Amino acid sequence: MTKISEIWIDADKCMRCANCLASCPVLTTAGFSAFPGPRNVMGEAPRPFEEIDATRDLFHLCTTCGHCREVCPSGINTPQAMSLLREAVAKKGYEDFYIQAAAKSTMKFKNPYTKEQIERCEWSKGFQFSKTSNILFYAGCTYSFNYPEVLKSTIDILQRADIEVQYLQEKEECCGIMLYDGGYLEEFQAQVKTNIKRFEEAGIDLLVTPCPGCYGMIKREYSKFADYNFRVQHFTEFLIELINQGKLKLKDYNATVTWHDPCHLSRKMRIFDEPRQIIESIPGLTFKEMPNTKYDSFCCGAGGAVLASRADVSIKLAKRRVSEAVNIGANIILTMCPACESILEKAIRYLAWEDMDDEDEEDFDLSDSRVKLMDLSTLISQCIA
Ligand code: SF4
Ligand code: SF4
Repeated sequence: MTKISEIWIDADKCMRCANCLASCPVLTTAGFSAFPGPRNVMGEAPRPFEEIDATRDLFHLCTTCGHCREVCPSGINTPQAMSLLREAVAKKGYEDFYIQAAAKSTMKFKNPYTKEQIERCEWSKGFQFSKTSNILFYAGCTYSFNYPEVLKSTIDILQRADIEVQYLQEKEECCGIMLYDGGYLEEFQAQVKTNIKRFEEAGIDLLVTPCPGCYGMIKREYSKFADYNFRVQHFTEFLIELINQGKLKLKDYNATVTWHDPCHLSRKMRIFDEPRQIIESIPGLTFKEMPNTKYDSFCCGAGGAVLASRADVSIKLAKRRVSEAVNIGANIILTMCPACESILEKAIRYLAWEDMDDEDEEDFDLSDSRVKLMDLSTLISQCIA
């Protein structure tokens, strides 16, 4: 595991090219006074923490989107540095209130929403799950509590392709992303051990999840703390296999759509092609790319726990992303990430509201907005012939 002292070494490799500043969505949207950018925030790291009291909030404004890392010729891993810096400031007692609340909820309730675990599986009522399948479906906290209808679409797709999966119901616990993002790395490690034990006890070969945050944590971060003997796939990887194997036949859907790359799925996990192949397999669709796409995709603003701690910053980024989709003439933004969906939906609502004349505001109706948001599972479920 990287230690905080290594950030000093990493920060020393900076050539001051400013690529990271030009690519940082927080800096370029919220402005230098709100967030001076990755190079400059990293530059704070070697100072004693007593001296960075006034700037410690900066560590919590990074969405950990990874764009700066992508363009850095020195390969500086700013998102990882941000987590370690957050851990260091948290240990000094400088915790962001909202991140602390979500992290403490994860420790106590096993989800960041202070909800009882029994509520997380309410969406699954009416579905039959296998007790012996070698595939485990991991729903994740945010989809479970906030987007139950999307999960129903996901399981509907699997059932129509005759795929049986296990599901842990209330025994499914948070992947620990808020602990990781908040810098509670010891508690994260404990959550990893609990989850891996539970997955191994299910006797699975494959874990499939629709949530990019859970996917990145389980596939990339868990392996740093413990060995496990199963593969991990994002639902888009699994879905394209089903389509290619002819297990799902799709019918026409007429719309102009675009794909928003969730940072956790694209830049961090290199899943670029599968969602696009799925979209292109739907007859009748017109698919258009936004200007910032794939490695260069523009962050929705929700990541790195920024939506929890600084929703005002998140919404600015999300409005910029929605405007990109509107400007290319898309009428549906497709994605598969509950955090992206949450903030992009809010941005669509805000932009539709801002578009209105004052006298029409009482008749505000979201269906009048120029673009709508849809989870790719929802669309596929509607397209199965
Ligand atoms: S990870 Fe993203 S938000 Fe954070 S400093 Fe880098 S470009 Fe900016
Ligand atoms: S992109 Fe990398 S090398 Fe260039 S200024 Fe940013 S941190 Fe320094």
